[in-house]
Amino acid sequence: MTRLSGRVGAHLIGVPVIFLRSDVLSRLDPQAWPVHGTTGQHPEPDRLGALATIHHEIRHFHDALLTPFLFHRFLLEVQRNAIGGRVLASAFARGSTPQADMLNDEERELVARHRRDVREHRRVFADCYATATVDWLGALSVSDLLEANAVVTEYQALAPLLGEELLARRWTEWSGTVPTKYTAVVNRLMVPGEPFTRNLRRINRVLMWCLYGAESPLRRFTAATNCAWPGLLDRLCGAPAIERSLRAALRRERYEVWQLGDDEATARYYLGARDLVDYRRQYEEALRGADFRLDGYVESLAATPVPPTCFYADDDMVRTRRVPFVRKADLRTAYGDAYVLGLMRDAARRTTLSAGIIPTPGHRSCVALNRVDTMLAMRYLTQEIFGDQVTYSTLLDNLYDGYLSELIASGRQRSATAHPDRR
Ligand SMILES: [Zn+2]
Repeated sequence: MTRLSGRVGAHLIGVPVIFLRSDVLSRLDPQAWPVHGTTGQHPEPDRLGALATIHHEIRHFHDALLTPFLFHRFLLEVQRNAIGGRVLASAFARGSTPQADMLNDEERELVARHRRDVREHRRVFADCYATATVDWLGALSVSDLLEANAVVTEYQALAPLLGEELLARRWTEWSGTVPTKYTAVVNRLMVPGEPFTRNLRRINRVLMWCLYGAESPLRRFTAATNCAWPGLLDRLCGAPAIERSLRAALRRERYEVWQLGDDEATARYYLGARDLVDYRRQYEEALRGADFRLDGYVESLAATPVPPTCFYADDDMVRTRRVPFVRKADLRTAYGDAYVLGLMRDAARRTTLSAGIIPTPGHRSCVALNRVDTMLAMRYLTQEIFGDQVTYSTLLDNLYDGYLSELIASGRQRSATAHPDRR
């Protein structure tokens, strides 16, 4: 898990959520997040940056649905939730913390099975976790391709606001100051002299062709970059080729991990395998409807599953108390719903939300906000059981630690699958 601190946004495989720092949200939407103590005037670039980040993170979520190795990872996390839920429920019933040495036989077998499935996943998809060496860049990973796809999406989202020329200039300036592998991937596929958004559309199709197939994404990417002229590339990675890739990948999948993530009893609280397949179908249909065009994808986001946003104050914001002032009622009014994770005092000693979950600004949420909280809590609280380290940010980690001791101390012996909004 990527640690959130210092980052403006992030996503998390296995939980339908995107993370956004609360100051980013307040800059996007100062009406909903009244920023007292400043002029409240936020320069346009900040707003555009926030909008871009939202599209970037949503794209990561969508790519995870159609990129076979990530979809499989997602299923494994669903399986982890199903097992983790059982383990937590029995730990709480005992009034203790979930510990690996206190599992009963059935739980121990389930945890072992999950670990086996994760190892098998790594073996089957080994080439997706390896890097390839390309002569013009050095080591390239599938993450670089995913980042490149998220970045072309965020630029496409800004296109109607900035126009072709400004957008191209913004890219040149920004990619010049942030020389990363993924900016290099985008620049490598950019055809000089062509309109910038046409380039974005082509690059997006190339990346979808590489990622959404049964073949190794890096091998495909190498094949694409070897295409001598843009017309050939357009044919190689056109809509029909992406469609064929998708179908081939779907024909190949046969996942036994389905069975352990499709539990009717826990479906209300955790994401199930069925939800995931449903999300994937909706996303696929939206892509087809848009003929695999990037501009069409951005325009049809309302028809795709959009995960809610978990906002948080990062370590530095907490230390300096530079937390935007916001009340639950403000968020409800602006976004239709709000779920409180934590409260703190801001620099003016007013009580404000330090973290919470809201529908992603501008979108309907594909999942109930409390389900996201349950999944985030479970991922964090069962880390010892599954032997993987999970950390979000100091603030969120503390909130979930506090939640655990609260549950145990309360002695209410409630299961981990039922908890109301925390204030
Ligand atoms: Zn990213």
